[in-house]
Amino acid sequence: MTMPLEGRVAIVTGASRGIGREIALHLAEKGAKVVVNYSSNQGTAEKVASTINNLASSGDGVRAIVCKADVAEPSQVAQLFDMAEHTFGPLHIVVNNAGILDSKNPTIAQTSDEDWDRTFQVNCKGVFLCSREAAKRIVHGGGGRIINISSSLVAKPVPGIGAAYTASKAAMEMMTRILAQELRGTQITANCVAPGAVATDMFFAGRSKASVEAVAKSNPFERLGKVEDVAPVVAFLASDQGEWVNGHRSSG
Ligand code: NAP
Repeated sequence: MTMPLEGRVAIVTGASRGIGREIALHLAEKGAKVVVNYSSNQGTAEKVASTINNLASSGDGVRAIVCKADVAEPSQVAQLFDMAEHTFGPLHIVVNNAGILDSKNPTIAQTSDEDWDRTFQVNCKGVFLCSREAAKRIVHGGGGRIINISSSLVAKPVPGIGAAYTASKAAMEMMTRILAQELRGTQITANCVAPGAVATDMFFAGRSKASVEAVAKSNPFERLGKVEDVAPVVAFLASDQGEWVNGHRSSG
């Protein structure tokens, strides 16, 4: 039986841990070949790739590789895309998942110039750099996908949770809408997925038990999101069935 993403090549940024890890695994389970990007945690990235390469469906050789690249650095982003194309051939799917949230600086008054700049460099410029490469390199007419991981905070900002983070995600969402318009006629779509609180390193960093419980309780399902709640949404947008969704943001 043909799998929905058979023959597709995907880059998932920040796929060594958390949501990105699950997206990489999920795309691979649906048949895609995946480049697992990371910035520092090589060991965990390699475990993700080896999990994919050990999938029962991986009889046809290597299905995942790792690539260290800081998404905020243009030359490293170019190398990431070069490596994907050299290893697997033409690219179809780019998931801009890599992101940072500096839990030390939650309010604007507490945010340093350096933290503001670094947050925008990774969460916004990083998505710009990868989207620019994607728009140039994904074959026009081949059903390409650019999927950017935003945050529910953009629609419902919470004071004290990363002002720079929320602002960077808002800018990134607008960039995605512009990109979708610019790519009209190319059969490349661009969308955002904007999860609520998901149980990952990023969410738990610097949080008290009471805060974790309060956030979980505030969700309509009265629990934190799981990485498994997010990855299928991305896989749907990446598939042929997701073709009609463009310039949108799915929230949860
Ligand atoms: P996480 O557990 O902290 O993982 C972050 C990932 O991004 C890691 O793989 C990390 O690589 C990578 N990364 C960080 N900076 C990078 C850079 N400059 N270049 C390349 N990779 C980089 O975070 P997460 O919770 O899974 O979040 C994933 C995405 O979902 C982020 O965009 C985040 O804003 C968004 N999101 C998260 C939540 C939540 O509640 N968790 C909610 C909404 C949206 P290393 O392992 O090498 O450091």
